[in-house]
Amino acid sequence: MHLGSCECHAVQYQFSGDPLTCYACHCTDCQTSSGSAFSLSMIVNDKHIELRKGKVAINVIDMNGVNVNKHHCSDCGSALWFSADEYPGMAALKPGTFDDTSWFEPIAHLWVRSKQSWLVLEATVRQYDTQVEISELVGLWAEKYAV
Ligand SMILES: [Zn+2]
Ligand SMILES: [Zn+2]
Repeated sequence: MHLGSCECHAVQYQFSGDPLTCYACHCTDCQTSSGSAFSLSMIVNDKHIELRKGKVAINVIDMNGVNVNKHHCSDCGSALWFSADEYPGMAALKPGTFDDTSWFEPIAHLWVRSKQSWLVLEATVRQYDTQVEISELVGLWAEKYAV
């Protein structure tokens, strides 16, 4: 079981399953929404996320024609996880919100063609120029973590 929280700690959640995969995305949308060089996403079953305290608000964002629900702290606005009607039962957790981030690493880098130029990636981690099928990322995770 892993605990996570938003920046102001009004929201605390627990994650009690095994991730399906975890990757870093360097697309320009992720750079804008994170205000950083890339974003981390951990794909999980949403039933494994449980709110322990606080209130999560939802904004609906149009991402390339798909309505995506951004679940965030209603006080400080930290993004906690994303969901979409297109992917029922799934969530893309923002794993930087875990209290302890030492137990996982991203198994791939996506949209490397738009990565910020100063960032040097480990050659041993899989890199994709653009998007890749989620099933491939699930396979890479299973190989590394033997689930
Ligand atoms: Zn907060
Ligand atoms: Zn992205």
